[in-house]
Amino acid sequence: MEEIVIVGSGPAGLTAAIYTARAALKPLLISGMQPGGQLTTTSIVENYPGFSEGVDGNKLMQEMRLQAEKMGCRFQNGEVRKAERLPDKTGIRLSIGENSIDTKALIVATGASALTLDLPQKDKLMGYGLSTCATCDGFFYRGKPVAVVGGGDSAMEEASYLAKLASEVTLIHRRDAFRASKTMQDRVLKNEKVKVIWNTEVVDTTANEQGLTGLILKNKPTGESSEIKVDGLFMAIGHHPNTEFVRDLVTTDDKGYILPTQGTQTNVPGVFAAGDVEDQDFRQAITAAGRGCQAALEAERYLENLH
Ligand code: NAP
Repeated sequence: MEEIVIVGSGPAGLTAAIYTARAALKPLLISGMQPGGQLTTTSIVENYPGFSEGVDGNKLMQEMRLQAEKMGCRFQNGEVRKAERLPDKTGIRLSIGENSIDTKALIVATGASALTLDLPQKDKLMGYGLSTCATCDGFFYRGKPVAVVGGGDSAMEEASYLAKLASEVTLIHRRDAFRASKTMQDRVLKNEKVKVIWNTEVVDTTANEQGLTGLILKNKPTGESSEIKVDGLFMAIGHHPNTEFVRDLVTTDDKGYILPTQGTQTNVPGVFAAGDVEDQDFRQAITAAGRGCQAALEAERYLENLH
């Protein structure tokens, strides 16, 4: 039986690993399909404190992993299929492929995946014009024209944020009304730097060796095609929390985000959640790291009380 297992290797999981390893809990961290998490898909991270020149997202995650390893965390690769309570309720059983691991405490830090448009050149252009995070990448588009796709609060937030940096922002929405809250809509609609294109889908991209140069749009009611020139497209069409493996174990909301009952503690004793699995609002590396720290300290207290 393990004392503590952490699932997920983004900032939340690795921070939890550093803290629990320092507390001599000998954590085991299970790293899934995208070791290092979403930060490994961005280039320079300029808003993580402590790096005045910014830090490469991959490098930041490698350093966090090295730090956790040095403290004594063990790592294992694999995708956890299911997490369930042991019949005697002394812990949690994780199924990984044909194997299983039992643990007294579990920290779920598997993050969320941003939903993206199914564009033909998507894989090639991610990080080179296509982005899902204005706070992360907006700075690179200072003085340049950009577009945002989506009609929810995230799209409004991205458009408002980008309007402070970009030369102009084109907000493209597939319907004739936004889903976002009225306050956030109003802020965008009043912003002179934001132009809205309604009833329109982004169907393709144009690009050169440097990256994105424009978008091919399709007006839904008329079927008419048009092209706009932009250097960046920010996709804000929602996120999907990576919580399928714990959906039968802990309480989640209707979208699958884990609902902690107090701090990072879930409704199941000994199971904690940290980062984008339980936060659909801030979604920053630093907030995820903070929650990872909190989960580690709460798990440590939980284990102390067991003994
Ligand atoms: P969301 O509310 O689910 O909105 C997603 C938007 O993307 C919708 O307008 C949707 O269009 C559009 N969309 C979805 N799939 C699309 C596709 N394939 N092509 C084109 N458009 C597509 O997601 P969200 O904006 O990320 O917000 C998620 C939650 O976080 C919400 O509860 C939100 O209130 C909250 N949030 C709050 C704040 C804040 O208060 N500061 C900030 C961000 C997020 P349709 O409208 O046509 O469905």
